[in-house]
Amino acid sequence: MIQEENIQLKQNLETIRDRIRNAALRAGRNPDDIILVGVTKTVEPDIMRQAYDFGLRDFGENRVQEFIRKADIIDSGCRWHIIGRLQTNKVKYLDHRVSLIHSLDREELAKALQARGEKIGKVWDVLVQVNVSGEETKAGVSPENLKDFVSVVSKLGNIHIKGLMTIAPYTEDSEEVRWVFRELRKIAVDIERERIENMNMEFLSMGMSNDFEIAIEEGASIVRVGSAIFGERVYLP
Ligand SMILES: *Cc1c(COP(=O)(O)O)cnc(C)c1O
Repeated sequence: MIQEENIQLKQNLETIRDRIRNAALRAGRNPDDIILVGVTKTVEPDIMRQAYDFGLRDFGENRVQEFIRKADIIDSGCRWHIIGRLQTNKVKYLDHRVSLIHSLDREELAKALQARGEKIGKVWDVLVQVNVSGEETKAGVSPENLKDFVSVVSKLGNIHIKGLMTIAPYTEDSEEVRWVFRELRKIAVDIERERIENMNMEFLSMGMSNDFEIAIEEGASIVRVGSAIFGERVYLP
């Protein structure tokens, strides 16, 4: 049983890496410039360790408690990404093991991160989540408010803005969301021109299991892939 899972996981990872590589080459990009974050929410640590053995080094979690529990179990040598909506009252549990927070979307959260950063002596690398599609249910700063938001956050010494993140609407035909990725890239280029201190646009985190190739064609430097590697998630109550 374990053995079968193992083979499937290995194949999935190889397939995703091939697809990343091909999408990058199609777009005239260097495949090595794209970071694969394996989204491991609800995935058990023993499976994550297998993925680690198959070369996966970046893990993405959307719940702080789950991150803490797993980071305590899994040895160092991997990078932890906080990718989902981050509740302000959970910030106090974040620690030095966090590599990148993908989902900064409001000032209140920035302030909490600043306070926590001062307390533990950490400068957080963060991406600002942008709600490009304008869906009401989606978190993220609106494109119109982005410049003001970034200007405020960039004054906080324990936060380093390293780029932008977005989540595209779910559609059957992922071509329909190509414009969302293209738009995020354009927004990043525009904001970089503002030359705001303490900010750069090193990373664009966009693309999930059903649309990561399109995101790469449109300039993603980080893709967040869960179910295409680990299988469909089963949420227990
Ligand atoms: C769950 C999740 C993903 C991965 O989704 P899949 O469709 O399983 O690849 C990526 N990003 C965020 C923010 C998520 O919550």
